[in-house]
Amino acid sequence: MRSHNASVLANLAWSRSEGISRAELARDSGLSASTVSAIVSDLMAANLLTSGHVAPSKGGRPPVILQFNTQRNYIVGVEMGASHIGAVICDLRGDIRWYDETEIDVSDDPAGTLRAIGELIEVARRRPEASGDLLGLGIAVPSPVDALTPDRLSPRLLPAWAEVRLAAQLHHRIGVRVFMDNDANCGALAEAQIGAGVDVPDFTYIKVATGVGAGHIVQRQPYRGFSGIAGEIGHTTVDPNGRPCRCGLRGCLEAEIGSGAIVEKASEAIAAGRVSALAELPSLTLADIVAAGHDGDTLAIELIAEAGNHLAVGVANLLNLMNPARVIIGGRLAAAGDLLLGPLRHIVGVRALWTSVERADVVISPLGDSQIAAGAATLVLRAALADLSHFWASETSAPQVAGPVARIWKAGGQGGA
Ligand SMILES: [Zn+2]
Repeated sequence: MRSHNASVLANLAWSRSEGISRAELARDSGLSASTVSAIVSDLMAANLLTSGHVAPSKGGRPPVILQFNTQRNYIVGVEMGASHIGAVICDLRGDIRWYDETEIDVSDDPAGTLRAIGELIEVARRRPEASGDLLGLGIAVPSPVDALTPDRLSPRLLPAWAEVRLAAQLHHRIGVRVFMDNDANCGALAEAQIGAGVDVPDFTYIKVATGVGAGHIVQRQPYRGFSGIAGEIGHTTVDPNGRPCRCGLRGCLEAEIGSGAIVEKASEAIAAGRVSALAELPSLTLADIVAAGHDGDTLAIELIAEAGNHLAVGVANLLNLMNPARVIIGGRLAAAGDLLLGPLRHIVGVRALWTSVERADVVISPLGDSQIAAGAATLVLRAALADLSHFWASETSAPQVAGPVARIWKAGGQGGA
């Protein structure tokens, strides 16, 4: 019981970045003053709470304001993209202190990727921003993470990774708790913590990059479905006769608007004789197409608008099914900004039911390249706030593979903000 109460008080202190007094802790938790006082002493002895300034007296002894010690530990979050890995150092507020990334063929080179992740983590551990001990490692993967087969990436989407136990290997190498989740879920968690989802309890984040995926936040908690794979919007059908998809189906949203598809469509148009600044480039990337669009290139603008139209079908279906307050678009295509949003909002307005559109915003994520990795770091933070024993023993002896398994999220209730 005492550890549950300690968790309640630590979460209250964490949620008040301006600090909180013992009297406020007692009032907000419903615990007695003596219980609060005893637990606060424990938490201060563990350096999880520190005493800050003294607030002005409202009659009687002026209260000491307690602060959650966000510098007690640091967290490393790692994003695995299709062709790069990125790592952040976050403090215990979830704020990003450092970010770096490196290009690598993640999809086809598991051994090289694991080596590169290990090296990036070693760099992070030596950084001055890494204050205190490493609390844990969060990793965002470009694959659904099925709670029924944790620590396995989808063999259908990433066949080279079929035999790799990623979290277990990283735990073995680094010796701290490792949490793994799908990249779009991590993106949604980052939006809830520091991005465009801070002020809404229900929203959906859609990552549009090489892959396309969605993460749902429902009542400030991630919604993962029965086995943890909710949100695979990239493999919903937008055109039954459309382009073949790497999942084996045809006309999936990802097959129409993933980076590879947009680049392919650009190359096809150029080969067919379309005049475009893109024809001058030796090799094409999505970033080139987005940049050309911003420079007014007609072909690039058309390709982005077409992607917006396809995405709109997915978003309209999502609005009608889930009724989120906001849809946040992230990933590399989000850099197209209004070139994407204009057509997207128009078609969504035509297709979704009047009420679900009327009240829903569709916006571009305000967070940059480090977002997914920062979201991975919040997996560690949320688990530790739900179970304070993570702070007392960040080094576990047995591998702890903790992904989107429901039990990790049940105990917390610390609210997503
Ligand atoms: Zn597919």
